[in-house]
Amino acid sequence: MSTVSESGVVDAVGKELFIGGKWTQATGGRTFGVHDPSTGGLLCEVADASPQDGMAALDAAVAAQADWAQYPPRERGEILRRSYDALMARQEELALLMTLEMGKPLAEARGEIAYAAEFFRWFAEEAVRIDGGYATAPNGTGRFLVTKQPVGPSILITPWNFPMAMGTRKIGPAVAAGCTMVIKPAAQTPLSMLALTQILADAGLPDGVLNVLTTSDSGGVMEPLIRDGRARKLSFTGSTSVGRKLLEQCSEKVLRTSMELGGNAPFLVFDDADLEAAVDGAMQAKMRNIGEACTAANRFYVQRGVVDEFSRRLTERMAALPIGRGTEGGVVVGPLIDEAAIEKVSSLVSDAAQRGAQVLTGGATVDGPGNFYQPTVLTGVPADARMADEEIFGPVAPISAFDTEDEAVAAANNTEYGLVSYLYTSDLKRGLRVSERLEAGMVGLNQGVVSNPAAPFGGIKQSGLGREGGTVGIDEFLETKYVAVNL
Ligand code: NAP
Repeated sequence: MSTVSESGVVDAVGKELFIGGKWTQATGGRTFGVHDPSTGGLLCEVADASPQDGMAALDAAVAAQADWAQYPPRERGEILRRSYDALMARQEELALLMTLEMGKPLAEARGEIAYAAEFFRWFAEEAVRIDGGYATAPNGTGRFLVTKQPVGPSILITPWNFPMAMGTRKIGPAVAAGCTMVIKPAAQTPLSMLALTQILADAGLPDGVLNVLTTSDSGGVMEPLIRDGRARKLSFTGSTSVGRKLLEQCSEKVLRTSMELGGNAPFLVFDDADLEAAVDGAMQAKMRNIGEACTAANRFYVQRGVVDEFSRRLTERMAALPIGRGTEGGVVVGPLIDEAAIEKVSSLVSDAAQRGAQVLTGGATVDGPGNFYQPTVLTGVPADARMADEEIFGPVAPISAFDTEDEAVAAANNTEYGLVSYLYTSDLKRGLRVSERLEAGMVGLNQGVVSNPAAPFGGIKQSGLGREGGTVGIDEFLETKYVAVNL
């Protein structure tokens, strides 16, 4: 357990750009501020990269690629393994740092450090399992030699909601596969990534393999790097709208892409479900990360026979959640990331109420300072409410009733997104049947959390392309090469 203070953990982090293995000032010494969303107070200033700094980072990644691709896989794995150990040894101080910049309660931040570290442990093991093949061609004389090679220099862009785990979920497989990187964390939460950078450097990551850009001008700095063509891969986690724009940019030089985009998860509860388990799962699926998760349950569809009882129990649990600064003991609901998030959540709730939804608890902001919104439950939410289409990204649970399985599946699938769906039933056949019919990359069957470094995480439809984690996660950073052998 660390005894480091709030200012101590912030002071300990490098605030400059990390290029070619060196901490480097941004052009002109420019900086921007990082703020605590629970108070609005300034935590520190970090380097504000220019497009020129961005190009220097790409140059460094390109220069390091050839040697890094030849580095023994076991040693790449050992770097990840040492970084895993360091993350876990420093879990307490890193959790505090994350809570300060992002707002999530300390207990959740500790959980994210462990989850983030687990990607490094997993990919430390995957680094030495990159396989290939040797096969006889159908004509009997030729041979197929199949091998896998690193994609090449990769651009990684991560969001603010999981400041550490969204980084390790990309850096882990990139290191394991032998790709160099330029990574850009979100401007609102750069400190966790900066702390992780030093951990990887201390664990022996060679200079130039990981280059880190913090910037207040993400579009201006990243677009030239994507269009440059020397980076061969973009791995992005963030909103669908930004993801679409980046896909267009990638098309110019035909970059490989992995896109982890937005979600609009349905949560189905059938009459035959274990209701207490369904409420527990609903609390996890809705309130993990204060509702600011791509996997957050965004729409609850509950069968008519249990909808009143489910709503009553969920309301009781939501109304009892302690709200406050994430650093305070016992707090479960921290602040939302910024004022824009509060405005969005407030307008979605008023829209639903105007269309006839009933507010069972919450439905309002909490007096400042900080960006707090009350845990909220709404029932009778009509299908045309805006929140049925848009990511709420806050602590709001909208409930609607359904009668038949077909009706539930149709409502669940009525979205452009397809990241995750949840369903609760004690009928195994129904559970599997509905899981197959749900248009989502992941399904939580009687389970409110699906994230697991050993499982393939990702969406279909406009929730993205590719998978992170699991045995397929490393493939996102590998190219398959086939050698036609004439014997
Ligand atoms: P966002 O606005 O799309 O930003 C994501 C990242 O992209 C940030 O680093 C951001 O930097 C950067 N960015 C924004 N505009 C850019 C541009 N024109 N060029 C290059 N980079 C750009 O998303 P967010 O608000 O941070 O995150 C929330 C979203 O992420 C939600 O939609 C959520 O569902 C999604 N998400 C998805 C997953 C998943 O695995 N599918 C996981 C977590 C979150 P700046 O913020 O510094 O501008």
